[in-house]
Amino acid sequence: MICEICGNIGKGRMISGIQMCEDCFGKLSKLRNSNKEMIHYFKKSENLKNATDKAKDYLNDVIDRKLSELGVTYEQLLGEENRLIAEEHNKQSYALNTVGLYEYDIVTILNKEHGLVDKEQMNRILQEHAANGWRLHTIYSNELGKSAISLLGLGINSTACEDVLIFERKLKNDNV
Ligand SMILES: [Zn+2]
Repeated sequence: MICEICGNIGKGRMISGIQMCEDCFGKLSKLRNSNKEMIHYFKKSENLKNATDKAKDYLNDVIDRKLSELGVTYEQLLGEENRLIAEEHNKQSYALNTVGLYEYDIVTILNKEHGLVDKEQMNRILQEHAANGWRLHTIYSNELGKSAISLLGLGINSTACEDVLIFERKLKNDNV
């Protein structure tokens, strides 16, 4: 059969006396559920250039019914859509143009015995991060609680702490 909406040949079904392919049936089902995207889709004449007059009339009827259910005219719907597009566009260009944003990375180093800092490991982490453009923002020592210690499989009476290193890196250079 030939789809009376898109003009493609293939398997399909008859809805309200109109033959349509499964793809168009899916779109129509969305439209019947007041999907605004589908209202815009079927309002665009380029999407209905292969549609029969009967199919166009039927779709227009469905659209009119959906618009009255939504309590808006098509012009109002279109205005709302354009406003949302403009708003999103503004947000995107704002996000892309904002310089001086930072990202952060957190690294922890566990000190198991006597709470001594593992200098070698810390030095290695600092060097590696610096080579990738990170700088140390904050460092603090965190004494681990009993549950963390048992999770680590250490003795119940042992104490352990971890060094928490927070690195910072600029996402975008001001000069770019
Ligand atoms: Zn179709």
